[in-house]
Amino acid sequence: MPIYEYACKDCAQQFEALVRSDSTPECPNCHSSQLEKLLSVFATTASSASAAPVMAGPCGSCGHPDGPGACGFH
Ligand SMILES: [Zn+2]
Repeated sequence: MPIYEYACKDCAQQFEALVRSDSTPECPNCHSSQLEKLLSVFATTASSASAAPVMAGPCGSCGHPDGPGACGFH
């Protein structure tokens, strides 16, 4: 069951909630359902890791030091 982080649009309370597909979370402070879903810590970490520069190398595709074609795939 995923944990999502929400920010309440009514009172700006931020909280984490276990969310089932058939239920809607509500603000623990004011019980509003006007919520904005935030990126979870896990999702933020994963996206920043995949965005790291890994294309800098002689091959241009895999970064093999012997140049294009040396890796056997490019
Ligand atoms: Zn609220």
